[in-house]
Amino acid sequence: MSDGHDPLSGIDPELRAWHQGALEGDPAVCGAPQPGHPGFPCIWNTNPHPEHRDVFGRTWTQDRGEPVYVAEWVEQSADGTVTLPTLDFGDVTIPCPEWCTGHLAQPQYRSDLTHNGPVVVAKVETECHGVIEFLQTHLSWAPFAELRPEPYPVAAIEVGDGHDFGPDGVRKVAKALLGHAGRLHRFADDLDHLRDGGES
Ligand SMILES: [Zn+2]
Ligand SMILES: [Zn+2]
Repeated sequence: MSDGHDPLSGIDPELRAWHQGALEGDPAVCGAPQPGHPGFPCIWNTNPHPEHRDVFGRTWTQDRGEPVYVAEWVEQSADGTVTLPTLDFGDVTIPCPEWCTGHLAQPQYRSDLTHNGPVVVAKVETECHGVIEFLQTHLSWAPFAELRPEPYPVAAIEVGDGHDFGPDGVRKVAKALLGHAGRLHRFADDLDHLRDGGES
C-alpha cells in the first residue's frame, strides 16, 4: 500500500488531518512550530496543553505554559464500542467498525463523529514540490451525519492542488494513477460489501 517515500505513511488519518490543519493554519489547531523540526508543528487543538506534540508524537514544551488539556486516544471497549465526548449529547457510545483506526477524545458535535479507515494514496515526484501525494483515499463513516446522512460508509477521496509537470513528470502521474486505480477498485468492492450487510 505504501512505497515508502511518505514520511507519514502508517500515521493515522485523524492525526494526519490535524497535521495538515496545523500546516495550513487551521484556526482550530495550535500549529506552534517545533524547534529543530520545521514542517512538523504542534497538532493539538487550541485548548491549553502542557506540551506541544507533533504528528509523530514528539513533544516539546511551550514557554508561556498554562494548563492542561490534552486530547488522548479513546480506548476501545472489549465489545468493540467506543465512548466519545460530544458537545451536544454528552458521552456517546457507538460500535466501531473493525477498519476504524481510532478516535481522539476531542469533544465535537455528535454529527461530526467519524470512523476513519487507513489511508491509501497515489504519489508522484513533481519538479516544483518534490514527492507529493494525491487522491488520498480512506473509508469514512459519520453515522450521525445530518446534512448529508451516511447510512453506509463512504470512500473519502481528496482531490489535491495544482502542480507543474514536464513530459516525464506527466508519465509519472499516469503511472501513479494506474497504480491507484487498482486500489480504488478494491475500495469500491469494499463499499459494495459494506452495503450488502457485511461486517460494518
Ligand atoms: Zn501546541
Ligand atoms: Zn471508530
